[in-house]
Amino acid sequence: MEVRRTVTVALDVDSDAAALLEDTVDTFLWSVQYVVDHAFDGEYVTTSKTTLDEETYDDVREATDGFNGGLVQAARNKAAEACKSVVASWKNGKKASKPHFSSPHVVYDKRTATFHDDHVSLATTEGRIEAEYVLPDEESNTPHSKYLFSVEYETTGAELHSSDGDWMLHIHCKKDVESDTSEQATTENGTVLGVDLGVNTLAVTSTGTFWTGDEFNHWRREYEKRRGDLQQCGTRWAHENIQSVGRKEDGRFKLMLHRISNELVAEARESGCSVIAFEDLTDIRERTGASWGHKWAFDRLYEYVEYKAEAYGIVVVQVDPKNTSRRCSHCGFTHPDNRDGDAFECLDCGYENHADYNAAKNIGLRYLRRTQTGGDGGAPLGVRLNSGIVNVNGGYSPASTEARTGVHAESHGFSRG
Ligand SMILES: [Zn+2]
Repeated sequence: MEVRRTVTVALDVDSDAAALLEDTVDTFLWSVQYVVDHAFDGEYVTTSKTTLDEETYDDVREATDGFNGGLVQAARNKAAEACKSVVASWKNGKKASKPHFSSPHVVYDKRTATFHDDHVSLATTEGRIEAEYVLPDEESNTPHSKYLFSVEYETTGAELHSSDGDWMLHIHCKKDVESDTSEQATTENGTVLGVDLGVNTLAVTSTGTFWTGDEFNHWRREYEKRRGDLQQCGTRWAHENIQSVGRKEDGRFKLMLHRISNELVAEARESGCSVIAFEDLTDIRERTGASWGHKWAFDRLYEYVEYKAEAYGIVVVQVDPKNTSRRCSHCGFTHPDNRDGDAFECLDCGYENHADYNAAKNIGLRYLRRTQTGGDGGAPLGVRLNSGIVNVNGGYSPASTEARTGVHAESHGFSRG
C-alpha cells in the first residue's frame, strides 16, 4: 500500500515571476471553468475525462494562446472530478450546483513541475520560472526533511496556492510500504467524524472539540468598521484603501481557516476516522442565520479540509442537515423545543449537552444511516465521540484508547498579522 503526505513549502518569488504565476493561475482557473461549463452544457453532465479532453482540449489551447498542454490537462482533470462529485451528490439525493472555481491555485504534476533540492521549476503561461524554497531554520524532524527530502518518498506533484501575495506549494509525496495491519485497521474499520458549523461556534466535532467564532466575528466587525470609516471619506485614496482592507481581511481569514482545517484533519487522524461528515452547506445561511461572510468561511473551510484530508485517504462528505439541530443524538426524538440557544435538552429522554455538539453527532449518524441503507461497501462502523463510538443502532462501545479529556472550548490565538 501507499503512504501519501503533503508538505507545504513557501516560495521565494520575485515580482517578474509573480506576474507570470498570477497569469498562470488566472488561465488555469479559466480553463477549469471552461471545461466545467462545457460539461454542463447539454442534457447530461459529461464526466468522462476522455470525452471532455476530446471536446475541449483544442478550444482551450486556442482560447488561451497555447497554454501549457500539461496544465490544460490538469485543468480538465480538475473539472472532470468536480463534475463527478456533483453527479455523485445528485445520485445521493443531495442538491449540488455547477462548480465555480475562485480559490487561486494551479495543479502541477511531474511534467509541468520539476522538484529540486532547494527550488522548483514551474510551467507558466510563458515558459518556466524557478523559485527557491523558503525552508524552516531547523533542519531535522521537519515535514520537509521527513518527506520532501527523504529518499524513501517520491514527489508526485503539487498544488500552487497564492494568498495575500504569498506563494505556497503543497507538494505531494508518496512511498510504498509493506502492508501494516494497524494502519489498515484504521481505514477498514474506521469511524466517521461529524462536524457542525455555526456562527457562535465556527466548528464542533463529534469528538467534542470546539473552535469558537469569537476571533472571526471580532475581525469581521473590525474590518466592517474600517470600511465604513473609509466609505465616508469617498475619495479615490479611500476607495483604494477599502480594497486593501478587503485583501487583508481575506488573507487573515484564509490563514485562520487553514489552521482550523489542519486541526480538524489532525482530529480525524488521531481518532482513527476514515470519513469526515459536514452538513450540506447549500442553505446554511437560511438554517443558521449566518452572514455571507460566514458562508464564505464555511465553504473555504470545507474546501481546505477536503484536500488536506485526501492526502491521508480520509473522505470528506456533506450530508442532509434536516433536523440535525433538533434531533436528540441519544434517543432520536426530534422536536424544535429540544433546543434553546446553545443548550440542548431532549424533551423525551432528558439528554443534555451543548446544542452544536449534539448536532455534530447527528451529522455523523446521518452519514452512517445513508451509507448503511445505500449499501456502499466499506461503510464506517460508528461515529467517533470523545469517549467512545456510537453505532447506527444507538449501541455504544467505550474507546479502546485512553479516554479523551472531553469537551473543551478554547479561543485559538492568532499567530500572524
Ligand atoms: Zn432523547
